[in-house]
Amino acid sequence: GQLSQLLLKVICVLAVINFGVGLLHGSDLNHMFEATISLMVGMIPEGLPAIVTIALAIGVSRMARQHAIIRKLPAVETLGSVTVICSDKTGTLTQNEMTVQAILAGGDRFQVSGGGYAPEGKFYEADQPIHPDAYPALMECLRAGTLCNDSRLVAGEASWRAEGDPTEVALLTSAAKAGLTASRVAAEYPRLSEIPFESDYQYMATLHRREGAPCTVAYLKGSVEQLLPRCQYCVDDKGQSQPITRAAVELIAHELAAQGLRVLALARLDLPADTVTIDHDIVAKGLTFLGLQAMIDPPRVEAIEAVQVCQAADIDVKMITGDHMGTAIAIGQQIGLVNPTTGTDQPLAVNSRDLENLSQAELVETVDQVSVFARVTPKQKLRLVEALQHRGHIAAMTGDGSNDAPALQQADVGVAMGITGTEVAKEAADMVLTDDNFATLKAAVEEGRSVFDNIAKAVIWTLPTNFGEGLIILVATLLGLALPITPLQILWINTVTAVLLGSTLVMEPKEPGLMQRSPRPPRSPLLRKATIRRIFVAAVLLAIFTFTTFNIALGQGQPLPTAQTVAVNTLVGGEIAMLLGFRSLKYSLLEIGLFSNPWVWGGIGSAIALQLLLTYAPWMNFIFQTAPISPTAWSLVLASMAAFYGLIEVDKQLQRHAARR
Ligand code: ADP
Ligand code: MG
Repeated sequence: GQLSQLLLKVICVLAVINFGVGLLHGSDLNHMFEATISLMVGMIPEGLPAIVTIALAIGVSRMARQHAIIRKLPAVETLGSVTVICSDKTGTLTQNEMTVQAILAGGDRFQVSGGGYAPEGKFYEADQPIHPDAYPALMECLRAGTLCNDSRLVAGEASWRAEGDPTEVALLTSAAKAGLTASRVAAEYPRLSEIPFESDYQYMATLHRREGAPCTVAYLKGSVEQLLPRCQYCVDDKGQSQPITRAAVELIAHELAAQGLRVLALARLDLPADTVTIDHDIVAKGLTFLGLQAMIDPPRVEAIEAVQVCQAADIDVKMITGDHMGTAIAIGQQIGLVNPTTGTDQPLAVNSRDLENLSQAELVETVDQVSVFARVTPKQKLRLVEALQHRGHIAAMTGDGSNDAPALQQADVGVAMGITGTEVAKEAADMVLTDDNFATLKAAVEEGRSVFDNIAKAVIWTLPTNFGEGLIILVATLLGLALPITPLQILWINTVTAVLLGSTLVMEPKEPGLMQRSPRPPRSPLLRKATIRRIFVAAVLLAIFTFTTFNIALGQGQPLPTAQTVAVNTLVGGEIAMLLGFRSLKYSLLEIGLFSNPWVWGGIGSAIALQLLLTYAPWMNFIFQTAPISPTAWSLVLASMAAFYGLIEVDKQLQRHAARR
């Protein structure tokens, strides 16, 4: 957008100058009108919108192949400029295959063996195998886990499969290890009502009837912070009700979380027999604490590597999770987000309840330093993105729940999860990860950077031709000379050869070191000063070469159409030289590989064929007022091409030298 505004202004000013000067020179109105139109046609990069769109579309297809689906085309470009990625923990950075490893029930602590979802494992107390049947409090805790549950554990052919929320399936597995089959328990305790899990509340509750019992019973499961304050009682090892000491439970919960385990609290509430529904108020107090189940959710191996790559690319990775602070920090350490050895004066992780009290200004200060945010609610996610953007960041944010939609919409790149994500989240997102994997997000950023590079290359390649053409006409007008190229010929160059040659640049493979450099400064223009200088110098050179060959041809006594044909071929030759030179703005052609982008050679071959047609085919001569040219003229064209290409490579080497120093 910025670029086209700039171009528009420059073109208008030059057109007015051209028209005015020409009239002052005494040229007639008709001629000046034609010359000014030529100038404007010449300077407008007609092919550029097509090339940019092709570049973005190619980015989309490359990303799709890597499991990232782009929903909004411009997101491809934005991805390349991302400076911070806010990622969910569960399922994105971790495998989301949960297994309960530790249980607290009736004041006793148990270990559970076995991995994955298969209900094969034993219970231990203080390293001694036990029979869970002998521990009523343990059985009640496990029963609560299967009843307050909306998921299913399915026996597959080779392995056990989770249907639903992995957190819940882990509870089904642990109960099944003690012989409690979900379907049998559910038949004994028919469900009457429920409060479904929501991230905002961090718990879930179900109401059950029991045959022959004088009351109904509500089972709850959720975060320790949410459930424990509601508990007035607990059960002892015989299953009898006792007053609760919350501090003791909290201590154990913290200890389990610090091992990276996801800790769920379970509780029950006996209600009158005629109760048929429950709501948040009914279960707000007077609960009986049944125990804790702590599950492991190992980090994804590829996520650890992807986080490292992002950090090398100067992209901040932040973990935003609804989970417990201790769990979040432990996982953060495992994937390299939190470095345990760095100075302790900076908080590396914060509980988002502490963020609640911060003003927006203080929050903006904090977000940059902290890399793990625990117990975050969807509403706070929105505040976090806003704070990051306030800091000047380009932020990507992942999410899956419906409540995440505002944060996804606010983020520069909203990323929804393809597997666990809700439709609402996907609708709000710019991109969907079909495998829910952080590594895919990293790959998409990498592609985005490459697309941005290629668009920049295409622009830097396109504009010198346009400015060169403008310059040629302006100078011809100023000096009162014949036009070296006609409007129709300019249109030919700008549309046919420009698109044919320019679009091959968007097929450039990723440059070496793509993820070892910093993101471009946020909101910086596409064309920075150094780039504008490059474009300008190239345009001047192109104009000089064209004028020179044109005038040599005229000097040899060639008719105007022949000399103009020489000029057109010099211009296209210059385009080819720039194409080879600007394939990389940093590395030489040999460094990136002469044939690493075969499309370029295809483009050059077709452009040459078309130029030969333009020069020699009679009907083309008729349409474009061109004429066959001599071998001497061709050698001039080739010489200017070679000189131009050489200058570009020398310039690149000089810039690299300067940058290194
Ligand atoms: P995240 O997915 O980032 O870990 P969630 O918002 O899904 O965060 O979960 C926040 C907390 O809510 C968890 O730490 C856990 O204590 C609790 N929780 C998660 N899933 C469930 C569920 N299905 N039922 C009850 N409580 C849950
Ligand atoms: Mg979750």
